[in-house]
Amino acid sequence: MAKNLSGNQIRQTFIDFFAERGHTVVPSASLVPGGDATLLFTNSGMVQFKDVFIGTDIRPYTRAVDSQKCMRVAGKHNDLDDVGRDDTHHTFFEMLGNWSFGDYYKKDAIAWSWQLLTEVWGLPKDKLYATCFKDDKGNIPTDEEAADIWKAQPGMDAERVLYYGRKENFWQMAEFGPCGPCSEIHIDLGEERDNLHGTPHKCGVNGDCTRYLELWNNVFIQYNMLEGGALEPLPATHVDTGMGFERIVSVLQSVDSNYKTDLFAPMIEVIRGLSGHTTEQVYADFTPFRVIADHTRAAAFLIADGVVPGNTGRNYICRMIIRRAARFASKIGLNKPFLAQVAEPVISAYGDFYPELVQHKQSILDSITREEVRFSRTVESGTAYLQGMLDDLKKNGQQVLDGRKAFDLYATYGLPLEITRDIAREQQLDVDEKSFVEAREQHAIASGAGKAMGSHGGSDTEFFGNIYKSLTESGKLKGAVEYDPYNWHSANGQVLSLVVNGTEVKEAQFGDQVEIILPRTGFYIESGGQVADMGIIRGLGKDGKTSWEVEVSAIRRPASGLISHIGEVVSGKPALGDDAIAMIDADRRHDIMRNHTATHLMHAALHKVLGPHARQAGSLVAPDRLRFDFNHPESMTQQQIEAVEEIVNAAIAADYQVNAKTRSREEAIAEGAMALFGETSGDVVRTITIVDDDETPDTPHERYSFELCGGTHIKRTSDVGAFIITSEGSAAAGVRRIEAVTGRGAHELMARRFKALKTTASLLKTSTDDVPNKATALQEELAAARKQLAEAKAQLAAAEFSAALSAPRQVGSVTVVNANLPGLSKDTLTQLSDLFRNKHPQNGVCAIFSVADGQLTLMVAVTQDLVKAGYKAGELVGYISKMLGAGGGGAPHLAFGGGKDLASLGTAVEYVYEWVRSKQG
Ligand SMILES: [Zn+2]
Ligand SMILES: [Zn+2]
Repeated sequence: MAKNLSGNQIRQTFIDFFAERGHTVVPSASLVPGGDATLLFTNSGMVQFKDVFIGTDIRPYTRAVDSQKCMRVAGKHNDLDDVGRDDTHHTFFEMLGNWSFGDYYKKDAIAWSWQLLTEVWGLPKDKLYATCFKDDKGNIPTDEEAADIWKAQPGMDAERVLYYGRKENFWQMAEFGPCGPCSEIHIDLGEERDNLHGTPHKCGVNGDCTRYLELWNNVFIQYNMLEGGALEPLPATHVDTGMGFERIVSVLQSVDSNYKTDLFAPMIEVIRGLSGHTTEQVYADFTPFRVIADHTRAAAFLIADGVVPGNTGRNYICRMIIRRAARFASKIGLNKPFLAQVAEPVISAYGDFYPELVQHKQSILDSITREEVRFSRTVESGTAYLQGMLDDLKKNGQQVLDGRKAFDLYATYGLPLEITRDIAREQQLDVDEKSFVEAREQHAIASGAGKAMGSHGGSDTEFFGNIYKSLTESGKLKGAVEYDPYNWHSANGQVLSLVVNGTEVKEAQFGDQVEIILPRTGFYIESGGQVADMGIIRGLGKDGKTSWEVEVSAIRRPASGLISHIGEVVSGKPALGDDAIAMIDADRRHDIMRNHTATHLMHAALHKVLGPHARQAGSLVAPDRLRFDFNHPESMTQQQIEAVEEIVNAAIAADYQVNAKTRSREEAIAEGAMALFGETSGDVVRTITIVDDDETPDTPHERYSFELCGGTHIKRTSDVGAFIITSEGSAAAGVRRIEAVTGRGAHELMARRFKALKTTASLLKTSTDDVPNKATALQEELAAARKQLAEAKAQLAAAEFSAALSAPRQVGSVTVVNANLPGLSKDTLTQLSDLFRNKHPQNGVCAIFSVADGQLTLMVAVTQDLVKAGYKAGELVGYISKMLGAGGGGAPHLAFGGGKDLASLGTAVEYVYEWVRSKQG
């Protein structure tokens, strides 16, 4: 088999294999499906190509290859119950696929799958099975075409090509429409992988046990199913394939659990370390580890695609899996928030292929931790309350918990149904889901919220739409919430609406996560890359004495006309109608404004240095940094980066004026404003110009920068303070990414760098200016010292070896030199074998064992005359390496091997004599 391929390499060999055969590499679609409102999550590779098969979408390619992110945790495909309990199920997983849209068909598809599996990945041909379609109802023709192609593959026996009926081998997108036979590839993993061994069961392809595993499904779309069940051939035939990525990795890495592959190992290791378990203990009670790893990975990917923990739809799923992971963590003694530490290795392992993980790293880590903290406040009282109810059930001899009670647990303690059900099932009880759903609906109606909770997608808008309607009808809100982030750092008014857990309430409690709606606000809503403001809302109770405070962490527009502040009640009890004032965190906003204006300055500088093609492709304006993606085919040189820095800093020093103005779209575009295609709509647009007001007026040709922009800016460029580029790299093909800091961030960076330099200088006992020279000199010294050390080691080894050389052991007629010398390289060992041959040109066997860093290297040399007499060095190395848990071999006169299992090293050294003796019969 292909040795030692990492999961990332396996994915890449799949993509490369098909790319080399003319396939366009297509990125994974988001977990949140674009057009398909009926689907909660993307759950297969087909989702993003569905319209191509139906014929309503045309792509610029006819062959595609991809690895699609999938989530199966709700709806028809719901694997949640199995996740954690076995080694193969996941909430999130990847699906590898190659696709032909009216291009190649069965012949190429089958030959390529066979080549990839057996030649590139080296799976044993005699363990692979192919299945083809034969209609159990006798109506649709048997797929002899596929079967014949399978039988023609090198090394495939006709007996391993099997036929199955509609359930296994016929694919339909829906009741009617495109469909066709499919052909699966299965592998026999051997008797030891049979979890039902010894029990009566169906053992074989499509059987009951875990010995036979389906690896890959090739779907051949060739018919259109009409109403009434008649089939007509499609004008063009297509190929759609799917291979579960985690599964193929487990097979190629020869492990008996997806969770033991290198895709999961780093996560499991973090959890193991935190829990203080040994690896044996982990495997003995693997379920909590599997659940935590699976759910954290899924949460990281969800948040990267914009799904955050919440009360409805996708957001509810994100909340539920984080809470469920936290609940399983408490079973292995982990009660403090830690999941972000498990998410870190997900981001680093998957970040190269899925850059959105790296891009949203901070919000992934923050959202996970915030959700754990929220849950930890109520989980204990929630589970204690649930336990009381379960005890009552048992006392009364009942089995099923009323779903209304389960709903109360969610509404009061934030315990999702899935967790309540886990806990009940652990005690051989269950929850009535039907009455849970009913209670949820009733609650939503009673609170006037429509379907605010649990119903998937769209309901949030509906819920807030209703709030908006009742506020305007009652006259509390005249028109939309007033919004002026440009002029208001604070705004006051009476609390119009309070929402807690998806329900409108009259009063919120200390610790609640609330959404507050006020008649006006100056909090900026995230847009155009600029992040939202944070801050506080202070209010006064109607008694005129008691006050309250909400820390605002986010701001959004849930329905048109409404703006909602999201935050936590940190003191008092906010109530409807209370007088309140909403104040943004002005320092944080000032940092954001510096970064936004600097972004415009840099955009203009990039055009000067690289050319007008360097247009914006994406942007993030945060308080601590700015990030800017732009079109440019190659990495920037150090000189170009420095030039951009210099131009921006010169513009800062020149103290240009920053002007905001609204004008008609045509006027702005005609005057050459830089605009992002599709970014803003409407006829009136806001523009930001940066001009040198001392010399020229704000006229089209004299502007330093001119952009369409809805963001907030400082008044003069000198306020940016300083601008430093911290990194330049690739964001996507043909798109570069710059990160930079300004103002306070730039000062902090300089202070930190300067301190590091000073510390380095004092460590090197030199001045700061001389650090580069000194470092170069030290590196040269170090290289020389290393070389000397290696020479000394080799001399020492030669000396020790010469002692062994002059005291060989005589085994019958053969002279055996057998030594155990630590720390030798393969080169040194080869040199020593020459010393041996000089001293004992005939009748000699030499073995040297050398351990370095816990790894054994073994060298065996045999003189030519003994080689002829049947003493093969490679044979001895093979035996010993196998004994020590590794491999090795080589020529009959000189061979090398290795070893990891060093406990048997003593036995192995003695075995050399035994082997020589055995040759003498
Ligand atoms: Zn079996
Ligand atoms: Zn802007």
